[in-house]
This record gives sequence, structure tokens and C-alpha cells, in this order.
Amino acid sequence: MILDGKTVASQIHDELRIEVESLRARGIVPHIALLLVGDNAASLSYVQSKSRACEKIGIASTVHRLPASASHQEVIELICRWNQDPTIHGILVQLPLPAHIRTDDVLQTIDPQKDVDGFHPVNVGRAVLGLPSFVPCTPAGIVELLRRYRITVRGKHVVVLGRSNIVGKPLANLLMQKAPWADAIVTVCHSAADDVQAYTRQADILVVAVGRAGLIHGDDVREGAVVVDVGINRIEDSTAPRGYRIVGDVDFASVAPKASAITPVPGGVGPMTIALLLRNTVYSAAGIAWEKPLFQ
Ligand code: NAP
Repeated sequence: MILDGKTVASQIHDELRIEVESLRARGIVPHIALLLVGDNAASLSYVQSKSRACEKIGIASTVHRLPASASHQEVIELICRWNQDPTIHGILVQLPLPAHIRTDDVLQTIDPQKDVDGFHPVNVGRAVLGLPSFVPCTPAGIVELLRRYRITVRGKHVVVLGRSNIVGKPLANLLMQKAPWADAIVTVCHSAADDVQAYTRQADILVVAVGRAGLIHGDDVREGAVVVDVGINRIEDSTAPRGYRIVGDVDFASVAPKASAITPVPGGVGPMTIALLLRNTVYSAAGIAWEKPLFQ
């Protein structure tokens, strides 16, 4: 079974469009502010896709670009202005930031109640405690994708490869929560593992979030495992229109025949990430992000 993130994301967009219409009818226009510092091509394309997706369902988006030479203070001041602006419900800073800007300070400056990426320590803490919170969009998107395909994680052994603050750690935290949509037995694996395959082969559900093209092959997964590929890697391809193509961390050709379900790249986790960003923004505009359990 292919876990088709594109189709599921489009269903979520349809559901959110209705919520946005009802907010607009009450005079609330959901609005997200996106900050891009510098001119990294991949970051620009991510920001553009997020902004386009917002506009399509009626969320207003403001993209603010600063040059790579922008000072740390300039970035902080812009965020403080957005924090004070009652017409802005969500603030997203596209990462990575240039090295001279202190990312942690910037993320901690965002008002936790507008933190639609869920990176502020207040939201991280709330999520660890199992309280309603803004949850990072990629992990939330993965949980939502599994839910919509009725893949139960309760009691299953989930192995997460990668422990970043934006994917691996928050995903492991979500899946171990004592909740009907979680309750998994979670192993987190990273670059210190001598034998990564010894872990991946034990997984009922394997999530790979490393950033290395084709790291996981058919021999590395159990027969019947569910495989979620988070990786986005550009590899050169002179036959592709842009001169490159996007592949995941999983070698789809050798893993798909063994897996019971698998996400493609592109078209798996990526669209779900954007859908959950839209959802976080709508919930923020509705004032319910810290009230509504993320999954029901
Ligand atoms: P990251 O911050 O670079 O973290 C990578 C993680 O992988 C680290 O924890 C690292 O271990 C671990 N790792 C590296 N080599 C390993 C190996 N050989 N075996 C096991 N673990 C290894 O990356 P990220 O931000 O989490 O992103 C991971 C991938 O997902 C990237 O391709 C990124 O583009 C993609 N991504 C996709 C989406 C989406 O929407 N689809 C969203 C976010 C990210 P250490 O901690 O020990 O260094």
C-alpha cells in the first residue's frame, strides 16, 4: 500500500477550507507571516510552496525577505512586531538561518501562541507533557497520515532514525504519548549507532529522517513493516528538467516489495507537513491551538 500524502493532504485542505470560511464569516482572516533570510534556493521554494498552499485555502500569507546580511537584531525586531500584530496568527521562520543569526534566540522570540512550527520551548514542553500545543508539522503530519490509513501504532515497535529537533525527537515524543492515537514502543536511533540495521530490522514501523539518499535498503527492513520516508535529497539528474530530482532516504525499489505500506518521495510526508502547517495556522486563528487535542 502506498501512503499517498498528496491525496490525504488535499483532503485536509478541503476540511480546512470550510473552517477558514467560517472564521472569515466571523470577521477573522487567518494570516501567517513567513520570514526568509538569504537566498537559499531550496528555502525559497519551501516558503513559496507554503505561501501558495495558504492562499489556496483562504489563509492570508505575508512573505518577508531579508538579505543574508541582515543583522540578528533586525530579525528579532521584525518578529517582535509580528508578535504584537493582532492580524497575524502564525509566525514561521524558514530554517536554516545564516550562521551569524542565533537560531535559538530567534525561535524563542516568537510568541508561543503564534508558533505554528511548534519549535518554541513552551510548545516543546507542552507537547512532552501531552498538553494541547503547536506540534512541529512534519511529525504531526506523519501521525495524521498513519491515522488516516488506519495504521495502528499502539503497542507497535516504532524505530525512528534521526533525532533532530524538528523531526526525530518530536515524533518519538508524540508516538510514545499515552493516547489512543499513539502508545507505541519507540526506539530512536542516530549516528552513534554502530549497526543501524540491527535496529531497523526490528521495526514494525520504521521512520527514516536522516537526509542521506537511499540509506535504507530492502535487506534493512522486516517483511511487512510500515516504512515512512521523511528524507528529501536532491540528486543530480541531467535528464530532469531542473537538472536534479528529489529522492528520499529509502531505496523505494528494494524496500517497497517487502513493506506492507510505504510513503513515496515526493508525495508522501512532504505534502502532509504543509497540510499540518495550515492546520496549525487555522487553529491559531480560531484561538484553539492550546485547547484542542491534536488528534482525536
Ligand atoms: P538533521 O537535523 O540533519 O538530522 C539528521 C539525523 O540523522 C541526526 O539525528 C543524525 O544523527 C542522524 N543520522 C545521520 N547519519 C545517520 C546514520 N548513518 N544512521 C542513523 N542516523 C543518522 O536532519 P532533519 O532536519 O531531521 O531532516 C532529515 C531529513 O528529512 C532531511 O533529508 C530533510 O530534508 C528531510 N525533511 C523532510 C521534511 C518533509 O516535510 N518531508 C521535513 C523536515 C526534514 P546525530 O544526531 O547523531 O547527528
